[in-house]
Amino acid sequence: MPESQALSILSSIFGFNSFRGAQEEIINHLIQGQSALVLMPTGGGKSLCFQIPALIRPGLAVVISPLIALMHDQVTSLQQLGVRAATLNSSQSAEQNRNTWRAIASGEIDLLYMAPERLLNEQTLEFLKQRQIALLAIDEAHCVSQWGHDFRPDYLGLSILSEHFPDVPMLALTATADAPTQSEIIKRLNLGDSRVFIAGFDRPNIRYRITAKNRAKNQLLDLLRTEHADDAGIVYCMSRRKTEDIAEFLRNEGFNALAYHAGLPDATRKRHQDRFLLEEGVIVVATIAFGMGIDKPNVRFVAHLDPPKSIEAYYQETGRAGRDGLPATAWMSYGLEDVVKLRQMMANSDAEERFKRIENQKLDALLGLCETTECRRQALLRYFGEELKDPCGNCDTCLTPVETWDGLEAAQKALSCVFRTGQRFGVSYLSQVLRGKSSDRMESFGHTRVSTFGIGEDLDDKTWRSVYRQLVAMGFLSVDMEGYGGLKLTERSRPVLRGAMAVKFRKEPKRLPRTKTRSAKKSLPDNVDPILWEKLRQLRLSIAKEQSIPPYIVFHDTTLQALIQIRPRTMLDMRSVPGVGDKKLENYGEIFLKALWEE
Ligand code: ADP
Ligand code: ZN
Repeated sequence: MPESQALSILSSIFGFNSFRGAQEEIINHLIQGQSALVLMPTGGGKSLCFQIPALIRPGLAVVISPLIALMHDQVTSLQQLGVRAATLNSSQSAEQNRNTWRAIASGEIDLLYMAPERLLNEQTLEFLKQRQIALLAIDEAHCVSQWGHDFRPDYLGLSILSEHFPDVPMLALTATADAPTQSEIIKRLNLGDSRVFIAGFDRPNIRYRITAKNRAKNQLLDLLRTEHADDAGIVYCMSRRKTEDIAEFLRNEGFNALAYHAGLPDATRKRHQDRFLLEEGVIVVATIAFGMGIDKPNVRFVAHLDPPKSIEAYYQETGRAGRDGLPATAWMSYGLEDVVKLRQMMANSDAEERFKRIENQKLDALLGLCETTECRRQALLRYFGEELKDPCGNCDTCLTPVETWDGLEAAQKALSCVFRTGQRFGVSYLSQVLRGKSSDRMESFGHTRVSTFGIGEDLDDKTWRSVYRQLVAMGFLSVDMEGYGGLKLTERSRPVLRGAMAVKFRKEPKRLPRTKTRSAKKSLPDNVDPILWEKLRQLRLSIAKEQSIPPYIVFHDTTLQALIQIRPRTMLDMRSVPGVGDKKLENYGEIFLKALWEE
């Protein structure tokens, strides 16, 4: 059977042997001139879906992307592969842009990346309408959704594209789209009855872990020391101040950590982002201002020191880990105080009541995920309407099943203590009352005389906190948003108080002994020689530095690891290593072969 043109391009240019998932089907669909919406998780391989048809269909392919950083990354990667790609954007000089126009006019460009506002400019449209357009690809298509978190007004203007280019196939791509967002994309881009390809949400290489907050800084440090000593990663915090504190703390512990938030001067932000991309093993401690536009494939961990506002946000933020498909960690440490803070922030915002209610429900769903005793991945995917048949085996609850304890009596004590003290106090106070730890304040409220004073001496403070946190997560208590975030009973608490239902709590796992030193444990597969790995990483870094490009654009970690595992002897052998296409073989083949075999 003759090899298809798409497959031969996949091999000769991109250096891969086979398509993944629906890639081939999508590519064929586009080659035949049909439009489509593609939903594929991060790292699923969306780019090839339009890059290959762009090289097969005659004419210029136009790719719309929301951020200069994203365009730049893709164009540089393509150029490294020998593909004729270019971008038009405001970060380039007028002359650079003029040269690009000229190259397009003389048919020297196959893929052109630009932002929507530039495409929609009258002149650009007129110019492009006179050319043969191979296809239109709209990356991050969820940016047209006004309800989503990445809404970009300029994306709305893209609705006119179907009028201007009626016969040009259009591909809209996104990794985040629940059902309403999907239909909004279809409506706004006039995709009508185009096919929708849905690849599912699962990111099997990400290991999900969520732990109760207990001196969070040290918990983070443990994680980094034991599992991610040399890795690049992102640590998310809620406040700007905290990102700076944590970055400094990590630097003092010997890590290469930088803060990133919207309050930093532009130049500093850019410098920190560049270091994250251009160097190895940099940790960025950031607010959510850091995220979109980060296409770095080898982010090995994403750590949340504060919980995000919803499962969608959690999924998107953790999704920045492990784009390259290699093992990655999504770790979160959370406590009830964080939830109270989030609830208060929501309550104090100017949003409409309806909107606040939705936000609160979303936070509830996140809490449910945090406190679940079943597989995290199953719970996460179920939220997106996807059923994973078996527990995943790659999350904390699968790896160390949660022990539970029968907690009806504790729940009753906890709830009635809330009631007896007037439904306006927080966890610390309630725990003190239960454990009979009187204070002047408690005396003054008369709470040393309530019936629940001292009835909980059998449990320690940590356990009571855990009980309260879980009661909130289960909906038996709510956080008072008008006042100071005290806990209140809910409708649902009645049957518990009456003893008419069973309550099971998860046992807090025991803390592992602290690690004092930065151990050499790396997130490397066993069959990758760490010395050779370090050597190739250095070689890659020096090549990248010469060209001022990120190391992963020279070769991905997957390719470096495959080089070590396969250890090709000849250039011909090397060509069969995934990620080594013709151009990269020509440019870097010899030097890497030499590094693999020299003593
Ligand atoms: P997305 O845009 O969906 O997040 P990318 O297009 O950046 O994903 O691809 C993610 C990673 O998977 C990249 O490292 C890419 O080189 C790799 N990849 C994509 N398709 C294939 C394939 N068919 N075979 C091997 N690797 C692939
Ligand atoms: Zn699991």
